[in-house]
Amino acid sequence: MTDVPRIAVCPGSYDPITYGHLDIISRAADQFDELVVAVVNTSVRKTKPLFGIEERLAFIDEATEHLGNVRAEPFSVLVVDFARSLGARTIVKGLRAISDFEYELEMGQLNRMQAPEVDTLYLMASPQYSFLSSSGVKELATFGGDIDSLVPERVARRLQEELTR
Ligand code: ADP
Repeated sequence: MTDVPRIAVCPGSYDPITYGHLDIISRAADQFDELVVAVVNTSVRKTKPLFGIEERLAFIDEATEHLGNVRAEPFSVLVVDFARSLGARTIVKGLRAISDFEYELEMGQLNRMQAPEVDTLYLMASPQYSFLSSSGVKELATFGGDIDSLVPERVARRLQEELTR
């Protein structure tokens, strides 16, 4: 054993953060010395995020304030390069229903090919959040659905401001 801190990166678009993300973040934070929530700044996905990078980061900072070893940072390079730049050797991903598996398997293999020294650790979604996604929450908010049990209070308020019709 060495004294080198064990650092992990938890990447995503977090547009916006949900209780499903927070469940994975807090469980991962228990397993590492430092956990960096890495927020995609420029995405290959062409769709423009609803919230700008600063606001997405601020939502995460507020929601993880009680977790002393967690911080949020933007990134706009390959995830493995971002991990390397931090000295992180682990990428943590949450797996929901079967649909996440295929995509994550492909991404995991591609990342492994780019950086064999950075491994990916998968945590299964908790049952109550298995079907929770940022896009689902945005859809609910658009039509005035109740999202209070799905996202932190400030996020719910901002979604309602941005989307309620
Ligand atoms: P989304 O798919 O909700 O837009 P992101 O692109 O921000 O989320 O995903 C970041 C990571 O969080 C991914 O590994 C994704 O599988 C995981 N994740 C998202 N929602 C949940 C959830 N409800 N439970 C567990 N993991 C989740």
